[in-house]
Amino acid sequence: RIEKTEEKIGAFSNVFPKKAIDEAKKYDSENNEEDRKNYDIELLFGVPVALKDNIVSKGDLTTAASKILKNYVGVYDATVVEKLKKAGTPIIGKANMDEFAMGSSNENSSIKSVSNPWDLTRVPGGSSGGSAAMVAAGQAPIALGSDTGGSIRQPACLTGTVGIKPTYGRVSRYGLMAFGSSLDQIGALAKSTEDLARLLQIIAGYDEKDATSVNVEVPNYLESLNNDLKGLKIGIPKEYFAEGLDENIKKVIMDSVEKLKELGAEIKEVSLPYSKYAISTYYIISSAEAASNLSRYDGVRYGVRESNEDVEKMYVESRTKGFGDEVKRRIMIGNYVLSSGFYDAYYKKASQVRRLIRDDFSKALKEVDVLLTPVSPTTAFKKGEKITDPVQMYLGDIFTVSINMAGLPAISVPAGFVDGLPVGIQLIGNYFREDLLFNISHKFE
Ligand code: GLN
Repeated sequence: RIEKTEEKIGAFSNVFPKKAIDEAKKYDSENNEEDRKNYDIELLFGVPVALKDNIVSKGDLTTAASKILKNYVGVYDATVVEKLKKAGTPIIGKANMDEFAMGSSNENSSIKSVSNPWDLTRVPGGSSGGSAAMVAAGQAPIALGSDTGGSIRQPACLTGTVGIKPTYGRVSRYGLMAFGSSLDQIGALAKSTEDLARLLQIIAGYDEKDATSVNVEVPNYLESLNNDLKGLKIGIPKEYFAEGLDENIKKVIMDSVEKLKELGAEIKEVSLPYSKYAISTYYIISSAEAASNLSRYDGVRYGVRESNEDVEKMYVESRTKGFGDEVKRRIMIGNYVLSSGFYDAYYKKASQVRRLIRDDFSKALKEVDVLLTPVSPTTAFKKGEKITDPVQMYLGDIFTVSINMAGLPAISVPAGFVDGLPVGIQLIGNYFREDLLFNISHKFE
């Protein structure tokens, strides 16, 4: 399938099916009872998985789709990779992405752009667009992504796949290249909720190598898939259905609400008044963290070095040639909002507003069990349509970024089509209630 379709789709930054087959053979210990004991064969044994190219795996190129890391080979396994290997889940390749996970269309990859399998002239979303496109196209059954402001949910929505951003702290970030550390979370994409639940089961859990990972027991996600929804309270945040949302998308979402009502759920309108500040707050905080995190790419420690003349020149040349336009834009915004004289007005203020956004969600999630919203205001847009207008691109993140600022789990579930293009709905749960999100998502299959 990869051989047949990859040229058109461009979902992989690096693909190694032969290596995956060899791994699978090694795992396949049918003749060796002893070996078999070393693997968790209950979940996805032998099922190939792709990693977003910002997740480090030992011996594999890990580039974050950036020129500055085009020669960087992982020297260790991310915790999620270690866990996948233990589960006997061979890695088939690295998924293309927006450079350093900055973007919503996959057009910011320094390698190549990714096409949406539903319509090759359109974007697959981003930044985990490679992960989403390969699952949608049947090139890989499951893939990992990362989500800082919607980068798993939005591409899942635009490609008709299911994608989950777990609670902040549910999955170890050790070995994930940092973008906005207080927002980043590794998650997963799949064709079905059951596959997704199995994959999260493998990668979730406390890790002492990640200081923000949380030591809370991981439930058995498969057990809750078939629970019924009688009495479940679903909140509809009124601010998420205001202007800017395509009418046809709204209809798909309202039909989903009806379906859940039929299954016994109670629907209630709720309010998240600080949502209107979500985009500006997110772009201040995430860019500030990005500027700080990306200072490590200096031509010395990782990747490409562009000049040997003197140290200043080496920094400047390596970063000038190594980073793409969007990454430079974020670094400039980040350094601006953190600079003395502006810090109080921008970064500090944004951190305060973030708290208010988080409190909005806490209040709403006391009244209801989950929130149901759109994921993206439009279906997959045409390549080239927004890439020259960054603000337009940022506005598309309106329904996803707040969830990262609150640290909550959310899932994008395929719910219908508009003009032949897939549309997803977003379900947002309380902290560590991924089980409930899977349970509801499963009802749409
Ligand atoms: N589209 C958002 C951004 O560009 C989200 C990216 C992400 O979640 N990694 O920042």
